[in-house]
Amino acid sequence: MGLFDKLASAAAVRRDVVSDGGLVPFGVTVERLLSPTEGLVAGRRVILGGTNNYLGLTFDQGCIEAGVAALRAEGTGTTGSRMANGSYAGHLALEREIADFYGWPHAIVFSTGYLANLGMIGALAGPGDVLVIDGDSHASIYDGCRLSGAEVIRFRHNNPADLDRRLTRLGAQARNALVIVEGIYSMLGDQAPLAEIVDIKHRHGALLMVDEAHSLGVLGEQGRGLCEAAGVMEGVDFVVGTFSKSLGGVGGFCVSAHAELGLVRYTSRPYIFTASPSPATVASTREALAVLRRQPQLRERLWQNVTQLHGGLTALGFVLGAAPSPVLALMRESRDQALADWQQLLDAGIYVNLMVPPATPGGISLLRCSISAAHTPEQIKHILSAFAGLPRAQLPTGQAALV
Ligand code: PMP
Repeated sequence: MGLFDKLASAAAVRRDVVSDGGLVPFGVTVERLLSPTEGLVAGRRVILGGTNNYLGLTFDQGCIEAGVAALRAEGTGTTGSRMANGSYAGHLALEREIADFYGWPHAIVFSTGYLANLGMIGALAGPGDVLVIDGDSHASIYDGCRLSGAEVIRFRHNNPADLDRRLTRLGAQARNALVIVEGIYSMLGDQAPLAEIVDIKHRHGALLMVDEAHSLGVLGEQGRGLCEAAGVMEGVDFVVGTFSKSLGGVGGFCVSAHAELGLVRYTSRPYIFTASPSPATVASTREALAVLRRQPQLRERLWQNVTQLHGGLTALGFVLGAAPSPVLALMRESRDQALADWQQLLDAGIYVNLMVPPATPGGISLLRCSISAAHTPEQIKHILSAFAGLPRAQLPTGQAALV
């Protein structure tokens, strides 16, 4: 098959999900953003219910002003990597601040969260090493594994007994394995059983990396994520995360108590061979992190909204993917049903994420909402009344185990 033919058939898997006369779900244009929770789609005002903008900081005045000031003072971009062009003061300050937030001495900032996973996994592991990852891991973790060239062993999603079995089978090699899990999983919104995973990692002498992309600013007394909420910070070797969700910016990071994190700068291709974050991005992220620390009430608002939406959808009779979480996934019977529902919600002025195979675990089809502290109770009511118009489909046989 020719290169272009192969590309066309791979694209068709996603592109053929087009409703009659409707929008292409994976190509929606938000013509204008009106606020963290509203935008214009196809000329109509819609409530944005699938943004990962957990704390609603994309329009925070202080973050905007910090970004604008940096833009004026330092220009639009860094025009190269930190290795080639040098680090800006802002890069170093952001690294100090994110390390301080976690109470660990070492941090490294990457240009995106995707690159943080590629960069960390690829730097830590190589041919001859073993990576033991949750089967439902994000694409960036899978791609990092591929980049590393290490052996990859998947354990059953959120199944500590399976992780234990697989590490046991590795024997002495388990002592050099890197286990990778996520704080909140982005498809179903469920959390890793982290205390058990930390216990297992200790018993086998392995290292543990936790991706807190969806849990930073969301879980834990200070918003540090599931590691903090589960009380196991000292049992975790590396926390990776993104600035693109709760902090409303772009960029990724890794923090650790291990001094070896500093060596990653010399070996990590996704750190070395890409442009460093722009001054505006760094400045708005620094301010967003300060807001996250200063305003725990944002996290409280977020959870009030989660409670309202999760409770409302449950009362309407929907099957949800997990316990209350800022990521709420609604199972649909089939891909076609999910698409029809997605379109119906959009017609009712609500934008959510459509998730269908192959992007979903176990071949399920989902409507995914992500809730923001910036949603008003009225907006949540509006979302609920739109969902009330959807059929209360049952789970396809055999998929109850995924809930
Ligand atoms: N890890 C997880 C678990 C994610 O869900 C995402 C983004 N969806 C990333 C990493 C990548 O983050 P970024 O958007 O900053 O590249």
